Amino acid sequence: MSNHRVLKLREAMQQKNVEALFVTSAINRRYLTGFTGSSGYVLVTMNDAYLLTDFRYMTQAPQQAKDFKVVEHAQRFTDTVKELLASANISKVAFEQDHVSFAAYSAYAEQLKPVELVPVSGLVEQLRIFKDAEELKIMQRAADLADDTFRHILGFVKTGMTEREVDLEMEFYMRHHGATCSSFDTIVASGERSAMPHGVASERVIVGNELITFDFGALLDGYCSDLTRTIAIGEPDAKLKEIYDIVLEAQLHTLENIMPGMTGREADALARDIITKYGYGDMFGHSTGHGLGMEVHENPRLSKLSDDILQPGMVVTVEPGIYIPGLGGVRIEDDIVITETGNAVLTHSSKEFTVLPV
Ligand code: ZN
Ligand code: ZN
Repeated sequence: MSNHRVLKLREAMQQKNVEALFVTSAINRRYLTGFTGSSGYVLVTMNDAYLLTDFRYMTQAPQQAKDFKVVEHAQRFTDTVKELLASANISKVAFEQDHVSFAAYSAYAEQLKPVELVPVSGLVEQLRIFKDAEELKIMQRAADLADDTFRHILGFVKTGMTEREVDLEMEFYMRHHGATCSSFDTIVASGERSAMPHGVASERVIVGNELITFDFGALLDGYCSDLTRTIAIGEPDAKLKEIYDIVLEAQLHTLENIMPGMTGREADALARDIITKYGYGDMFGHSTGHGLGMEVHENPRLSKLSDDILQPGMVVTVEPGIYIPGLGGVRIEDDIVITETGNAVLTHSSKEFTVLPV
């Protein structure tokens, strides 16, 4: 009575000589069990898979976490973990060191004695990198919603509005169409603010004859999309049209050539080499892309430093940009899935240079 994610996790545990794993990350908990409640812990051994939660969830948890033994934990949940480990004769349990504060670790170590705690990293995250068919379906819906939101906002945005008003409309649209919320703080960066790669929507008024960068996504059924488009409203500086064409060339070239077997560094270079060739290499200060899934930034990384090898089933972003301080910037981002032969693009919003009337 185990799902394929638990079976894969057990293989990873065996490779690391881990007999039992105690999962505290909320996202990893949801990934393994399907349980969407706000509180719970997962304990996986070679023979059993438990979801520990409290009385509030004793109806919901067994319905969602079908392959798990759902246990209502004691007031101190570590007492229940200790009991379960003792009944299986397990004296060592691995914990997710990246998701446990020092204070929590100290408490667990004390309360679980004489069981020994062993720190591990990324056991579940390594599984999450590869999306199965069911996950890809959800991610396609999250991508479609981002595309719909962009189309909607093109008919909404006008000069005289603040960036925050536009942000709010995007948030409302996404939630109205099924999103839990935006997958991160929406970037609406107009005018000289578009030169800030992380220009979260501000009180700035959109005045016209400038660029606007929208970078946003929907969190839908637990998965994120992440889309960036840059448009003009009125006639911006000619230099900005020039960098738009360069970023678009770099982005399209990367989409055409990304394939399995490539390293993150090689994928990054596909975009970076073109931008550098035109003399803007030092104005492209971030990496070309990142993994995407239940979190908006996951592995693999598409960066100058990344040795990650791209493989079928990975979902990544491709988002080169050029930023000229004081003038403006351009970024264009799509979400893609690596396939056996290349990649498939999940987001489809137009990348033609769009000029809205002032
Ligand atoms: Zn983005
Ligand atoms: Zn991104």
